[in-house]
Order: sequence, then C-alpha cells, then structure tokens
Amino acid sequence: MYDVAIIGAGVAGSSFALKIVNHAKTVLIEEQDFDKNIPIRTNIFAEHNRPYLKEVDWNDKNIFPIPHLRSNYMADTANGVIDSTKFGIPLGNICYTDRLIEFLITQFKDKGGETKFGVKVKRVNRKGDHIELTCDNGEVISTKFLAIATGSHDFNLQKSLGFGVPDQYMGICVHLHGEEAQLNENLKWQYVFHLNPKISTNGPFFINKGVERAFVGFLGKMHDSPSDLKDKLERILQNYKRIQPCIKNLKKGSDVTIGKISKHPIKEFSGDRMLILGEAAGLVTSFFYEGILCGLVSAQVGADTIIPLLEKESSFSKHELRVYDSEIHRILLKNYFRNGNACEYLFYTDASYVRSLWNHYCELIATDITSQRYIYEAYINQDLANHDINKDRYVGEKLFAKLPALSKITLSPRFLRAMMI
Ligand SMILES: Cc1cc2nc3c(=O)[nH]c(=O)nc-3n(C[C@H](O)[C@H](O)[C@H](O)COP(=O)(O)OP(=O)(O)OC[C@H]3O[C@@H](n4cnc5c(N)ncnc54)[C@H](O)[C@@H]3O)c2cc1C
Repeated sequence: MYDVAIIGAGVAGSSFALKIVNHAKTVLIEEQDFDKNIPIRTNIFAEHNRPYLKEVDWNDKNIFPIPHLRSNYMADTANGVIDSTKFGIPLGNICYTDRLIEFLITQFKDKGGETKFGVKVKRVNRKGDHIELTCDNGEVISTKFLAIATGSHDFNLQKSLGFGVPDQYMGICVHLHGEEAQLNENLKWQYVFHLNPKISTNGPFFINKGVERAFVGFLGKMHDSPSDLKDKLERILQNYKRIQPCIKNLKKGSDVTIGKISKHPIKEFSGDRMLILGEAAGLVTSFFYEGILCGLVSAQVGADTIIPLLEKESSFSKHELRVYDSEIHRILLKNYFRNGNACEYLFYTDASYVRSLWNHYCELIATDITSQRYIYEAYINQDLANHDINKDRYVGEKLFAKLPALSKITLSPRFLRAMMI
C-alpha cells in the first residue's frame, strides 16, 4: 500500500511528487510514456511562476537557457513590445520544460520516490479505506491517497470518478532550427504572440525563442485532424508574410507535436482521498494558455493541503481536502484568471472585428507606456491572489478609447461585458 500515488509525470505531477516526497513513507508516480523520445519543449516561464518552484535553481542554464526579456504582441500594423529592460527584472525565463521535468523526477527519486514508467493506469476504484489503480500491464496498485495529474491525455479516469471534464482544443507545434546569430537577427523578442482569426479563433500563433531554436505553433479546433493541422502549419510557415522575417533561414525540425490542450476549470478539484492537479482540472489561463503556472500552483497548494494530513495519518476526507479548492480559487481564479477570461471573450471569436481590434490593441501597447508597465507587472507579480484588475481595466478602457466611433457603438456591449467577467 502506497501512502501517495500520482498519475502523470508532467509539470503538475512531478512537482507535486517532489514537494511531498519527504512527508510520506511511500510515494509512487505512474507515467504512461515518459521513456519516449520527447522533444525539448521551449516554453515561456513567467517570473510569477517563481514562488511555486523553489526546488529548482533559476540560473540553471540547462533548464532555463535564456532570460525572457521582451514579448511582442504582434499585429498586422504594429509590434506591441513589452521590453522588461525599461522597467526592471526580466519577464521570466525561457524554459526547456522536458529538462525541468527530468530534473524534478531525478530529485524525487534521489529522495526515495518510486516511479513506474511506461505503465498506463486504466481504471481507478475507491475501496473504502484506500484506492485501487488497475494498470494496462495487469498490475493492481493500492494507495491511501491519489493525485490525478493526467493533463488532457486521459479524461476517462476523472470522469469515472464523478469529476468534470474541461473543454479541449487541438494544438500543433514544432521547432525551427538555425544559427544563433540568425535567430537573434530574426527575433528581437523571446516571445511572439500573434492573433489572426484565419489561423485560429481559439488562440495565437506563437513563437518562443530558445537557443539555436524557436518553438512555433497554434491551436486549432477540437475536431481538426492531425493532417489538417500539419498542412495548415506548413502553409503558414511557407507563405504567411507577417511571420516570414521571424523565421528567415530557419529549418523545420522533425519533432512536430500534435495534442490536446484543455482550459476552463472544472467545478470541483477534490474528492475523498484524491485531488486533481493542473491541466486535467482545466487549470490553464484561457487567453495565454499558461498551463505551467497552473500546474505549479496546483502542485504547491496540493502539497500544502496534504502534508499536514499525512502527518496526522488522516483519512483524507473530501471535507479535509476542500481547502485545496478554496486556495486554487483564491490564488488563481478569483482575480488572476479574470483578465484572461475577458481577453478570451473579446478576441477568441470568429466575429469580423477581431483583426482590427487586435491591431488597435498592439498599437496601444506600442505607444502607451502605462499599458506596457501594467502588462509587465502582470508577468512579474508574484502575489497572484492580489492581482490588480484595475490595471487590466485601465488597458481595456484605453483600448476602447482608441476605437473609431462606429466600432465604439457596436463593441460597447462586448467591452462592458468583458469588464464584468
Ligand atoms: C502548443 C502549446 C504550447 C504551450 N506553451 C506554454 C507556455 O509557453 N507556457 C505555459 O505556461 N504553458 C504552455 N502550454 C500549456 C502547458 O504546457 C500545459 O498546460 C502543462 O504543461 C500541463 O501540465 P500537466 O502536468 O497538468 O499535464 P501534462 O504535461 O499533460 O502531463 C500529464 C501526464 O500524464 C500522463 N498520463 C495521462 N494519462 C495517464 C494514464 N492513464 N496513466 C499514466 N500516465 C498518464 C501523460 O502521459 C502526461 O505525461 C502550452 C501548451 C501547448 C499545447
């Protein structure tokens, strides 16, 4: 019988495992495909993630190869650049996420944690004073407590236990490779966030710059087939004029990744003897798709919830675990998620106004230093629970003020609604 079992070794599961390993006698992570040859994901890792990942050295260049100094909110008509060097510390780091996960797992094992890789958990059954996991190799594992951290790979488990399922979108991404000098000439920013409803009405076309590589991709619709997504990405990389200067002389890698990403939190994240962490719970911000932040926050809050219960050999009742839900609400959903929800409501639609609104938004960022500062502060603010939504409102009001008279009339109900989200 394990004290704690965790299904899924993504950011959420592996960081949770490391945070609790010293507080339980036996901790197990089960991961279906950790041994597969995964590409090194190149993600942005905002400064506001820092309090939730104290176990890792922020200066470890193997994991965080470069600082994230500049973001470009890119429109047809403007580069809306947030340049951290104008304001203070960097926006965060660029992160090779798979190396981060590898580091967390190694530390977990060094501290006595157990792993079973290449094993898929097929079924979970509650058994009064414990939980049983049935694996695809026939093994049955018993645990006193379970953390489900399965991302958007397997909703059957949580569904069978009565939990909700978040909505999902298909994403595609690939690395482009080249000389560092060429990348630096192409990309003065470590992150490019570009909206064009012809590419997607669910998310941006993004470029994250690493070292001698850039990670590019976009989100499609839930039912887009892999071949449709691949064809579309190919067409964008070959022909889409706006991004050509960013990708000049770079060579596409063979690591095309296609997978689901979920968002919009489910209603409940805890039940008797179990918690749901990270993307499995729909904990991903709905405009920027910050799933790493949410995975880390849920791991920290989950650890803070169960460590005292492990110490008093509790039965992990739903009532005792409720604090996990309320803390996730307090830190992430109450204030911080509202900005993303409002932006999602304004920009992720197939309405004809989106392209021109995005142009106005990026022009505002390019010219208004206060908007730049407020967006900068959202990247670096480590007190997410007290995220200042008045600053988001300021940017929203400035954007509305820039619109032509006719757009003001047609879009005022949308803006009013967005302000109230
Ligand atoms: C294209 C793209 C770009 C992104 N960029 C960023 C970014 O720059 N910054 C950011 O913050 N976020 C980004 N995100 C989101 C972020 O990467 C994810 O939300 C986050 O990594 C999810 O972490 P997780 O641990 O919850 O889930 P996952 O990383 O998905 O991990 C879940 C794990 O569980 C395993 N698993 C699932 N079911 C089972 C089972 N039944 N048995 C055993 N194992 C199982 C899976 O194999 C998987 O390894 C991006 C997402 C996409 C799609």
